[in-house]
Amino acid sequence: MKEAIGVIPGLAVILVGDRKDSATYVRNKKKACESVGINSLEVHLPEDCTEQEVLNHISGFNEDSSVHGILVQLPLPSHMNEQNVLNAVRIEKDVDGFHPLNIGRLAMRGREPLFVPCTPKGCIELLHRHNFPIKGKRAVVIGRSNIVGMPAALLLQREDATVTVVHSRTCNPEEITRQADIIISAVGQPNMVRGSWIKPGAVIIDVGINPVEDPNSPRGYRLVGDVFYEEACKIASAVTPVPGGVGPMTIAMLLQNTLISAKRIHSFK
Ligand code: NDP
Repeated sequence: MKEAIGVIPGLAVILVGDRKDSATYVRNKKKACESVGINSLEVHLPEDCTEQEVLNHISGFNEDSSVHGILVQLPLPSHMNEQNVLNAVRIEKDVDGFHPLNIGRLAMRGREPLFVPCTPKGCIELLHRHNFPIKGKRAVVIGRSNIVGMPAALLLQREDATVTVVHSRTCNPEEITRQADIIISAVGQPNMVRGSWIKPGAVIIDVGINPVEDPNSPRGYRLVGDVFYEEACKIASAVTPVPGGVGPMTIAMLLQNTLISAKRIHSFK
């Protein structure tokens, strides 16, 4: 694109506050952009800034022709209305895919969202790249958040899986999950999905990232998934590791969405 039309895809990231995990995610996204030649712009605002300040930055990026994707790192501080902020991102630059119009189109048959949320998109990409069929399979998604569980269930359904969503009020989650050919877990509970929850041969995508105490680690903690990895390995046909599975895929999909956006905005084939 740079050589053909003089355009470098650009991603703008807005980070509010001092959450360590958010700062790490933003740093990793920036590094990934640099590694593939995407321009990354970052705005870091203090925890006590106003919602209007965030909206002003979004508005600036909406108008900036060098920016093709805008990402607001979540969660936002509690005094801000997340819905107002996400709605302010121009749908054509909504590379996170969280704008209600994008989610609405994802949910409707025969409609195409401009962008699919990165984490669930990465989960489906993992299944495709490893040639695990989805059509006609029974899938269980554990978790129903707007950013992972819900769009993951919609995507699996679009791929013709029969999908059940398990959440915190589900009775007998173990019994339901044990019927699944494909499990996507996005809960945030360390090692919740035990071997007894898994049908032999099932494919498991573990989205959860959970810090657990570990005195042997220099940081005093280590990261584990929602799935009890050692047990799952013995029963499942495939299981994604944490860290190193869905996390890097999420970033890869963000880069892909930014490129898709830049190509669409500049009508570049
Ligand atoms: P949320 O807290 O927004 O949602 C968690 C979901 O899990 C809710 O739907 C909740 O149910 C459900 N849940 C909670 N406890 C249980 C339980 N005991 N049994 C069944 N369901 C339960 O989390 P997110 O979706 O934002 O994130 C989930 C996990 O994925 C986290 O560990 C997060 O760090 C990780 N994550 C990883 C990413 C990556 O790139 N790898 C990206 C984003 C998130 P209910 O709706 O009833 O409350």
